[in-house]
Amino acid sequence: MAIARGYAATDASKPLTPFTFERREPNADDVVISIQYCGVCHSDIHQARNEWGNSHYPMVPGHEIVGTVTAVGSSVTKFKIGDHVGVGCFVDSCVGCAARDLDNEQYMPGLVQTYNDFEAAGKTPTYGGYSDSIVVKEGYVLSIPDNLPLDAAAPLLCAGITLYSPLRHWNAGPGMKVAILGMGGLGHMGVKLAHAMGADVTVLSQSLSKKEDGLRLGADHYYATSDAETFKALAGTFDLIICTVSAEIDWNAYLNLLKVNGSMVLVGVPEHSVPVHAFSLVPGRRSLAGSMIGSIKETQEMLDFCGEHNIVSEIEKINISEINEAYERVLKSDVRYRFVIDIASLKA
Ligand SMILES: [Zn+2]
Repeated sequence: MAIARGYAATDASKPLTPFTFERREPNADDVVISIQYCGVCHSDIHQARNEWGNSHYPMVPGHEIVGTVTAVGSSVTKFKIGDHVGVGCFVDSCVGCAARDLDNEQYMPGLVQTYNDFEAAGKTPTYGGYSDSIVVKEGYVLSIPDNLPLDAAAPLLCAGITLYSPLRHWNAGPGMKVAILGMGGLGHMGVKLAHAMGADVTVLSQSLSKKEDGLRLGADHYYATSDAETFKALAGTFDLIICTVSAEIDWNAYLNLLKVNGSMVLVGVPEHSVPVHAFSLVPGRRSLAGSMIGSIKETQEMLDFCGEHNIVSEIEKINISEINEAYERVLKSDVRYRFVIDIASLKA
């Protein structure tokens, strides 16, 4: 067993504090990773604070992990010591299960989350990337293209794939009008990715305060949703709307911005259910759908796409001792656009 150092939540109402724990001995198919950076995802906060009601403590959050391989098991073929690698939201799935579908494994019941879960044997808790090392099966480790800076690449592992997967599934590309609803950690990745895919990209944000950033990152148009005129001007405009916000919004008003056959896809999860009127869908053969992260196969495809197009996240780097303050700022949307923890600060 190797000793790992990190930060953990010890119950729903306490701040994260330093925590020492054991990582398992690597098996033949495992990769040992020295973690260099870990992104801070809004779902880390939900789980650290037990807002989804399924939290186990102590919990080491973090599923936007990047680092360097320090050891590999005897049967590992894809990675070698020194490689730049990433780990996203899950570290195992239903291996050997007849229903395992490599294109859709993120939706399989046997999924093992990177933290706040138990490894396949059901005993050892999984601990995430707010720590200095992790041991992960080769099949769940991703290659980070050499040209991408590791710190800003970290958020690709969750925020990046969360937007890439629905953009690909709904065929974002030239001639398509795509709206990204929300200009935060997820939304700004959607702007960059949809632009690189060749779509005509519109940001729908509460105000115009981030307009300059949005246009710089690849948006063609930028509208404030606090302005009622926006909903008149854009009625029937979009092929695809990706909703990254988890606030309570009037979905009917947004569905009305879709063209005939258009789709609105939710990647954020509002706390309460929101009424949708059938008339928002039926007359335009419109769809309301959801999407969650992506498979390992698709996550690697996304990373390679980002390598080709030089896409990374816009980040604010923090020391791990600043994590509790960072959580408060995420809740106020006071970050441009993703916090990334410099894991070297654990040793300071
Ligand atoms: Zn996440």
